[in-house]
Amino acid sequence: MDINTNIQYLKGVGGKRAELFNKLGIYTVDALLHFYPRAYEDWSAVVPIKEAPIGENCSVRARVSYEPTKTRSKGGMFYYTTTVTDGVGLMNIIIFNNKYAAAKLQEGEEFIFWGKVSIGSRGERQMLSPLIETVTTGERIRPVYKLTQGLTQKVVENAVNNALKEFVPTLEETLPKTIRSKYKLCNLGYAMSNIHNPSSSEALKLARERLIFEELFILQLGLMRLKGREKRTSACVVANDFSEEFYKGLPFTPTNAQKRAVSEAVADMQKNVPMARLVQGDVGSGKTLVAATLVYNTAKNNMQSAFMAPTEILALQHFKTMHKFFEDSDIKVEVLTGSTPASRKKEIKKALADGEIDLIIGTHALIQDDVLFKSLALVITDEQHRFGVKQRSALAEKGNNPHTLVMSATPIPRTLALMIYGDLDVSVLDELPPGRQPIETYSVTSKLHDRVYNYIRKHLDEGRQGYIVCPLVEEGETELIPAVEYSEQLQKKEFRGYRVGLLHGKMKPSEKEQVMQEFSEGKIQILVSTTVVEVGVDVPNAVIMVIENAERFGLSQLHQLRGRVGRGKYKSTCILISDAQNEQARTRLKAMCDTCDGFKIADEDLKLRGPGDFFGARQHGLPELKIADMLNDMQILNSAQQAAKSILKSDEKLEKSENISIKKSVEKLFSTVGEAGLN
Ligand code: ADP
Ligand code: MG
Repeated sequence: MDINTNIQYLKGVGGKRAELFNKLGIYTVDALLHFYPRAYEDWSAVVPIKEAPIGENCSVRARVSYEPTKTRSKGGMFYYTTTVTDGVGLMNIIIFNNKYAAAKLQEGEEFIFWGKVSIGSRGERQMLSPLIETVTTGERIRPVYKLTQGLTQKVVENAVNNALKEFVPTLEETLPKTIRSKYKLCNLGYAMSNIHNPSSSEALKLARERLIFEELFILQLGLMRLKGREKRTSACVVANDFSEEFYKGLPFTPTNAQKRAVSEAVADMQKNVPMARLVQGDVGSGKTLVAATLVYNTAKNNMQSAFMAPTEILALQHFKTMHKFFEDSDIKVEVLTGSTPASRKKEIKKALADGEIDLIIGTHALIQDDVLFKSLALVITDEQHRFGVKQRSALAEKGNNPHTLVMSATPIPRTLALMIYGDLDVSVLDELPPGRQPIETYSVTSKLHDRVYNYIRKHLDEGRQGYIVCPLVEEGETELIPAVEYSEQLQKKEFRGYRVGLLHGKMKPSEKEQVMQEFSEGKIQILVSTTVVEVGVDVPNAVIMVIENAERFGLSQLHQLRGRVGRGKYKSTCILISDAQNEQARTRLKAMCDTCDGFKIADEDLKLRGPGDFFGARQHGLPELKIADMLNDMQILNSAQQAAKSILKSDEKLEKSENISIKKSVEKLFSTVGEAGLN
């Protein structure tokens, strides 16, 4: 029998049960072996009856004093009672409506009882309907599997044990010996046996470590390889550093963090190895300036840069910013998006191919086949997580291994950054430009709407501007209705005489651009918007951000929205409106009021939502992990990453015989990644 055999042929399974296993996503014996317990119950840590913790599951080893007596309850059900003792303490056992369990309890026999101890009406200790096992089979750490209707723990355990018996002796080791001894990892057979059926808590720990390591190691290898970093030389040496020259022309002094990030990138780009660097910084930390400096350098070294933004609004905004940065220089900047007229597109493409454009800014339109460069040396992508890795590398392929700079608007917890970005080097902008004041954040109920409107009007009267982000619509609803109606209502009533604007996702790009233009010129005073303003928009005169139905947004999204204000010299306020009472929502809103630190918020978000939801699986395009946990397995992640790097150094394509099974594992793990993935 082969390990990839259909599960129905495994001893103890059969056709009917196989269907139930299928519901859990298990089709083969191999998949069953990788179906790790979701928890464990430590039945081996037997406690004396007198010391048993009240109200918590525990295991007690005790002898039956007398055969259970049967009583009929008022409801017509039967229950069985007896007393057990461990020689020191006494405990009542009460079993409801289960004559088989009761019949097991022969007088004088010893058993392991697993359950919660409670205190009965006369002060005596008792367990209600405990799980009961014989001493020989019971005193161990027991796995707890995820189940589905019709499938019991016992059946799963049985099937797993049969699979272990049959396959562990011939299991092919997947990690080379050198790696196992370097990182002190147990072998695969031992790990498999003990993850399902731990012989002790130490054995379980070893098994877990090995399996987590392997999973993260394979993941890292896959990321590193599929991201194309194995191509190691680049023709794009950006030899001379003109950063200081560029800084001189700026209206402000760059922060130390910005300078540091620039010099790190400049050093990368002076080598003939493609740079792969992530610039992480909280909203408003000034990532765009870092990008601009590198573009300047590249252009002064007679090479081209491309800058890809996730939305048209952002592309146009970056175009404007860059245009301003380079106004007094000879650097030529152009923008290319889906709505650029065809004739204009043609001209731009020609100029790009001829090398007349130094910096092209755009959306996905940049990655089309007919966009060609003369000498593309630097590729910048903004708001990274919105692009699949595929799109990023498609742009990079247009040059001769150009340098890449990734700018992340969402501060990502370090663990997650390591996961998603594999071996990108990271520069962190941990400093905000001087003079920024923290954004005061309040969470209020909708009863206070009138006061909120008052507060906004007061600031509009002082010449400032503000945003009102519309209630996020539930799935299936259209986002138009609330946004359109709400803005009309505000214009007619609460903000009569003020200039109210509207921005939503269904507008044409040119209309959106017009609205943003009017807002940034101050022609629109209050912008009612759906989340399209979420990332990147920069209007320093806007000082109030009101978010309706704030409980419907994720923490990181709220933080991004809030980051639209507090960008200039004025004190800014964020008001979260929510009537939600549930604890999760309250915790989220409180976190927002307590801190403006994006990294703290991202950590909190990860804790509350779990990594799977953090970006949405489709966006980060990572395969699903079975055992590793990004919050808690940081230590192992570091060594897995180190191991992956070193193995690729000696065997770039994983062709050596000792690495063949690793290669197979990588392919298998990544075969589960869909369209947005890393193929
Ligand atoms: P983000 O990191 O969120 O993309 P931006 O690059 O949009 O931030 O910068 C936010 C604002 O701060 C912009 O208006 C920009 O001109 C300004 N800014 C950037 N760097 C500095 C600096 N060193 N001193 C003062 N203002 C700066
Ligand atoms: Mg930005």
